[in-house]
Order: sequence, then structure tokens, then C-alpha cells
Amino acid sequence: MSISTKNPYGPNPSDYLSNVNSFKIIDTTLREGEQFSNAFFTVDSKVKIAKALDEFGVDYIELTSPVASDQSKTELETICKLGLKAKVLTHIRCNMNDAKVAVNCGVDGVNVFIGTSQFMRQYSHGKDMSFITNAAVQVIEFVKSKGLEIRFSTEDSFRSDIVDLLNIYTTVDKIGVDRIGIADTVGGGNPRQVYELVRTIKSCVSCDIETHFHNDTGCAIANAYTALEAGSKYIDTTVLGIGERNGIVPLGGFMARMVVSAPDYVKSKYKLIKLRELETLVAETVKVNIPFNNPITGFCAFTHKAGIHAKAILANPSTYEILNPADFGLSRYIHFANRLTGWNAIKARVEQLNLDLTDDQIKEITHKIKNLGDVRPLSIDDVDSIIKDYHSDAAKVELAKKEQEEQRRALESSADDDDDDDGDEPQQKKQKISSQ
Ligand SMILES: [Zn+2]
Repeated sequence: MSISTKNPYGPNPSDYLSNVNSFKIIDTTLREGEQFSNAFFTVDSKVKIAKALDEFGVDYIELTSPVASDQSKTELETICKLGLKAKVLTHIRCNMNDAKVAVNCGVDGVNVFIGTSQFMRQYSHGKDMSFITNAAVQVIEFVKSKGLEIRFSTEDSFRSDIVDLLNIYTTVDKIGVDRIGIADTVGGGNPRQVYELVRTIKSCVSCDIETHFHNDTGCAIANAYTALEAGSKYIDTTVLGIGERNGIVPLGGFMARMVVSAPDYVKSKYKLIKLRELETLVAETVKVNIPFNNPITGFCAFTHKAGIHAKAILANPSTYEILNPADFGLSRYIHFANRLTGWNAIKARVEQLNLDLTDDQIKEITHKIKNLGDVRPLSIDDVDSIIKDYHSDAAKVELAKKEQEEQRRALESSADDDDDDDGDEPQQKKQKISSQ
């Protein structure tokens, strides 16, 4: 029976707006990630992370506003001078003062934001929509006059009035903004809301759409994917998802999602084998561990434990793996030291240990391992000693058998020699018999 090679997770052909096969990454580890509670970046650490992101292949790197602090400005200017392939952006408030400082730092583009929800307007900046619109137009025209890319984003888009959103987006679209940003700043959006909002906005503007999803309710990656289906092209990510509160779309998890849906695009564009190195660098810089259940790089992401799984994985890894660890320079691991193990997994371990045992013997060993696994947790050493002890016992039995066999043969052959010495004995016996 042949297995279909059609990808059931590929883009839906009826999503004519879909950018699943043509998205771009705006990595904001050096801006949103700086808002992570543990983050403290120096110029050196920002440079290292920027270079690693660039090597990985992200399309844009977003940095903290140069007006946030003197150090922030220095970091931005330093990274702009690195000559990275990725474009460098800075994220600023929607006012002329911030815009004037930003355009003089050597950036490729400016990401402008302002809150548009009732919450933001009442409790954050206190401005009404006509003020917001005027400020947006002024800043966009100024940044464009400097020949730089400009994105205009509405903070807390999902709790903003749809009429306000459409008014401001169509206004900035008309004056030539490069991208508009839809931001789920509080992380409350769900995939269906995302699909509907992005598609509605997409039908009203000609510019590109960038989306920014926080992960408070665990929907960030799903929301990002759905946004692409609905016509968004740019996704904001951070390494390990670090950001304000519990962060945003994690780059690694997003890659896991996208490599399944658009394997050719993702593998040709991003250096997936650099992911672990990049995550380790950021984890060390902000002093966290890579979570055990992280997609791709979590310590057990490619570990197979149950006997049934192990058997099928050994026959064909795709049976229980949607991601191929080799794409990320990683390897799979069959967890055989537990009571759920099966004899196929133990056989694979026996082969790794270079020991020669029959299938029946391996089944007997598996039984012993399972029995011990019922009593206490097992380590690889436990399993290896059971296998090795069994093997050496079996070898001893084999050796003893051989020795016995040899002794028997030796006895037989010495008996034969005696026969040769007394060649006439049978005749004598016959004679004796006949004489009786
Ligand atoms: Zn954010």
C-alpha cells in the first residue's frame, strides 16, 4: 500500500488571500523581547542576537525606540551599521519628536503605533480618533519623505471599534503607508476573530498587513497562522516568544507550524539548523531555560516512548513525527528505559550496543525490563546492564554448552582411538559369543 505524499496541512486553495507560502518575519526580540521581565540587554548582547537572527534569515529586526534611553539609541545606531541582510526597524510612538530621532539613526524603516481601543484612548494616551488620524498622517508623510519604510499600527486592535479601524487604515493606506499593523496587544483574540478582522481589513486596503499576537490565552501561533490565511503577510515574532507579560508568537514554534504547511518555502528561506543555537543564545542572555515542551528544541520534542510508537518510528519515522528532526540538525530519540517499552525498541538498543541476541532472547529481556520498570523509574544504565547481564549469562551458557560438547567429542574420539588399538576386539567378542 503506498502512502499519499499530498500535504494535508498545506494552504487551503480556497483561501485566495493566503500568504502561508509567502510570509515574512519581523523579529522583535530586541524590542518586544526587551519588555520581557528578565531581559537586560547590552550593546554586545544585542549585536550578538541581531547577527544570529540575521544568520537565521529573519526578514526584519525591530529594535527599541531610540527615545526610550540613551543606551537604546546607541544600540539602534550600532546595529544599523552592521550591514545585516535583514532590514532594521525601530518601534516608535506616533509623534513627530520620536519620528525625527528615529529617521536619523540609520534605520531601514519605522514601525509607528498608537492605541485605538476605548481602554487605550481613555487610560493610556487620552486622545480621540481625529487627533490620532492627524498625528498618523503627519508622521507617515514625514518618514516617507526620508525614503524609509513606514508601518502604522493600532495597538489593541481587537478591542477597537471596527469603524474607527477601517477609517484610520484606509486613510493611511491612501497616503502610501507600506504596512498597517493589527495588534492583539492583550492576547485575547482567537483564530476565528483574527480571520474575520484581517480579511475585512484586507478587503479595504491595498498595502500589506503586519500582525502582532500576544500569547496570554495561548493562541499566538494559531492566530498568526490564521492571519496569514486571511491575507496578513508579516508576522511579528521573538525568540522563545519573550515579551511583555508571557510574550508573543515564538519564532521556533511559528517555524514548526510553517514548515509543516509550507515546507519548500520555509526550508529554502530560513536556516532552520541555526534555531537551537539562536534560542540557546537568547535563553542564556535573559537567563531562562528552554521549556521542556518547546516545539522543536524542547528536550523531549523528538523522544518516542511507548512501545507501539517506538516500533513504528523504527520502521518509518513519519508514522509518529510531523516534523523531521534532521531539518533542524537534531536527532530523534527512542525512550526505551521504561515500563511502556517494547521489544523492537530494546532490539534497536541491543544493536546499538553491538550485541548478538535472538529475537526470543530480546523478548525475554524486554519482559525483565518491564518488570523492573513497574517497580521504579529506569535509567538507560539500568536497561543496558539488564541487556549486558543477560548477554553475558547467555554467553556463559553457550560457552558451557560448547565445552560440554567438546568434552563429549573428545571422549568419543578417545573411545574411537581405543577401538583402533584393539582392531580385533569385535572379532574376539564374536568369538566369545560363538563359543558360549
Ligand atoms: Zn507587543
